Amino acid sequence: MARNDMALDHTHDVSARSWVAGAADPGAAFPVQNLPFGVYRQAGSAGAFRSCAAIGNSIIDLAAVNAGYGPNLNELAAAGRDTWRTLRHELFALLTDEGRKSQAASYLHDQSTVEMGMPVACPNFTDFYTSYFHAFNAGSIFRPDAPMTPNFKWLPIAYHGRASSVVVSGHEVRRPRGQRILPGDDSPTYGPCLWLDHEVELGLVMGPGNAMGDAVSVDEAESHMFGVVLLNDWSARDIQAFEYDPLGPFLAKSFATTISPWIVTMDALAPFRSPAFTRFAGDPECPAHLDSEANRAQGHLDIQVEAYLQGADSEERSRLSRTSYTTSYWTPAQLVAHHTSAGCPLVPGDILGTGTISGPTPEEAGTMLELSRAAQNPIKLSAGGTRTFIEDGDCITLAGKCQREGFTPIGFGEASGCVLPVLP
Ligand code: CA
Repeated sequence: MARNDMALDHTHDVSARSWVAGAADPGAAFPVQNLPFGVYRQAGSAGAFRSCAAIGNSIIDLAAVNAGYGPNLNELAAAGRDTWRTLRHELFALLTDEGRKSQAASYLHDQSTVEMGMPVACPNFTDFYTSYFHAFNAGSIFRPDAPMTPNFKWLPIAYHGRASSVVVSGHEVRRPRGQRILPGDDSPTYGPCLWLDHEVELGLVMGPGNAMGDAVSVDEAESHMFGVVLLNDWSARDIQAFEYDPLGPFLAKSFATTISPWIVTMDALAPFRSPAFTRFAGDPECPAHLDSEANRAQGHLDIQVEAYLQGADSEERSRLSRTSYTTSYWTPAQLVAHHTSAGCPLVPGDILGTGTISGPTPEEAGTMLELSRAAQNPIKLSAGGTRTFIEDGDCITLAGKCQREGFTPIGFGEASGCVLPVLP
């Protein structure tokens, strides 16, 4: 398997322009330098989902470049980086050549006329815990005398989550019921979650994967990454607090996870590489099997992630947080290397959550738990009102983008979900 390859090519050229409406607008999420993959069908239809890429205000069916996958992109994920790159180059050529407008016309659809589906059938969902600042903030709330667990700086902590409840943006989320200890009570009662929360994360969508027993090295890891989506790991904090010891979260996390419909490829992210997180003075050295020179130099991705809340009675959404993924302690390649280091096979379409992305300042916290200090300090919403945790009717939207001097900014679209009350 090829080593990580972060090369820039003509598809990153800042002067490249697509003729598709909206693609060359300043700040467009989907310029021709992006070309994320997804699956779509006509809005309101019951037809099968077909593969496409985003361009400007439109999607283009991959049949335009004689490719076709559906109803999800698992086969494309399995095909590997040469296929992803060839497709990117073919789309780029078509969408930047005015002379080929008529050839492409019948494959273009305005985004407002289509419905996006789950980009991959997700066989396995693993969720990591890689932000030092999130771990410290959350740890200080639940374990004030020992906020950090001793393993945090030695390995990227994770648990095996549920793939069956990973849903695409737009899917409604039902408030869960569970066992939690109410204030003043000594023992748990079963009832509606009172501390419903979001977690700002990214999801790494796996490509070809590894054979059982084979470990993937840090320097090979990125050839196993099909791309990146936004990921909201909905969390029931009160249920989590009672159930998590000793095996970690279970029902507090398994009721829903929302991802964005567009898989932004590692090729599209090449201009936005960053050095790995700088370990704090006194931290242990990075273990050799999770370390490499290339990873230290360029292992991270400068993806800016934001969370918004919009109440049922509000016309406007309020930003809850904004930070960069580079604040996380472990890089994507280290997550893949650690995941496979004992021989576990990754398979195409697997999603690895990065864990909540919280930066060093209070405004960079990726959960309501941190923002409200476990309901001690209500969050003031710019649209009016306050929140401690998520209320019925609230919609949480994650957004993401990359921007760097000398390159065309790219966006991730959105991962959005609105909360329904518990079933009667
Ligand atoms: Ca999480």
